[in-house]
Amino acid sequence: MPTINENFLKMEKNYLFINIAKKIKAYSDANPEKAKNIIRMGIGDVTLPIAKCVIDAMKKGADEMSVKETFKGYEDSGAGYEFLREAVSDYYKSFGVDVLADDIRINDGAKADCGNIVDIFGDDNTVLITDPAYPVYVDTNLMNGRKVIFADSNEENGFAAMPDQNVHADLIYLCSPNNPTGSVYTKDQLKVWIDYALKNNAIIIYDAAYEAFITENDIPRSIYEINGSKKCAIEMCSLSKTAGFTGMRCGYTVVPRELVVKASDGTEVSISQLWGRRQGSKFNGVSYPVQCAAAAVFTKEGLREIKQNIQYYQENARIISGVLNELGIKYTGGKNSPYIWLKCPNNIGSWEFFDKLLEEANVVGTPGAGFGKNGEGWFRLTAFGDRDKTIEAMERFKKII
Ligand SMILES: *Cc1c(COP(=O)(O)O)cnc(C)c1O
Repeated sequence: MPTINENFLKMEKNYLFINIAKKIKAYSDANPEKAKNIIRMGIGDVTLPIAKCVIDAMKKGADEMSVKETFKGYEDSGAGYEFLREAVSDYYKSFGVDVLADDIRINDGAKADCGNIVDIFGDDNTVLITDPAYPVYVDTNLMNGRKVIFADSNEENGFAAMPDQNVHADLIYLCSPNNPTGSVYTKDQLKVWIDYALKNNAIIIYDAAYEAFITENDIPRSIYEINGSKKCAIEMCSLSKTAGFTGMRCGYTVVPRELVVKASDGTEVSISQLWGRRQGSKFNGVSYPVQCAAAAVFTKEGLREIKQNIQYYQENARIISGVLNELGIKYTGGKNSPYIWLKCPNNIGSWEFFDKLLEEANVVGTPGAGFGKNGEGWFRLTAFGDRDKTIEAMERFKKII
């Protein structure tokens, strides 16, 4: 009989959204009529279809697979076709960031890389994660038995945690614009994190999945906008929220060649080389038609079409924020993010508010407590829904407060 990885037994039994789904099912079974009216503003999934030019590119890629001359088997490097890596590199250039196509690896979404990247780091590292945070960062490190410490994001700091200079960390996860809180780091704040990482010889894993939602010009869209970052940061991004790729699966990770660490015998090791080695053994690349689709996202037409979808979600966010303003409810996000992170009215708990909203308004959101202890008393709504449903949900919200 094999032994198991007992670290799994120390974790929450279910991923947050499975617990939420169970609650919705229990309510729906007991109230089948009301269940028909449920509006979901919980899971961070997009709802608008993918841009036409992107789907056309995918079809063209699929057709190429049916012709002997253009058929593609395994990709040589598994790092992604050069046409797509160049397109991502050019996209970075469009907002003033220099990232070499050779330092970009294409993947089937950022979640996998966020989790898998830790394979190349020792289990004796101390991992610093903001609280609240996207559950993947914590879970993936607990699975390997790593020590996880937290930096508090809370009402006082606008849910933008800063490092404690007296605490040492080896790996740091940052996410801006943040899921779940919708908060963003300014350039000055990111500089503080970079200086902290350089001082501690730490590496930052920077999740930029929501960069396309940034509306304010002075908010950084990439950690590489800040000096010194290439020596201490890996950046992950995804087309999931940017271009509606949650069901298509494509993202990219940047590991700058400047990023080196010392092995125990003192030799310098390139993080990019280690990550390439890991991926070479455990990952065989993203399907060709999907990479064709992804490249089309970065064309002029693609960028124009995805912008329309993002603006639709941004308008939803304004509608949600508007109602919260009216009601005098505190919140972060909504401005540079599809998430609105609100303080539960009357100081009730996150799960209590979840039940109230589900039962009295038939609206589903996400309890902040599911993202960490500082999320208790807070609640996440997403702007990824239909316009009409968002308006209707907020009308119902108003009535029960
Ligand atoms: C949605 C999301 C991602 C993207 O995940 P994919 O695997 O690319 O779909 C990454 N990070 C955060 C914080 C997210 O919310």
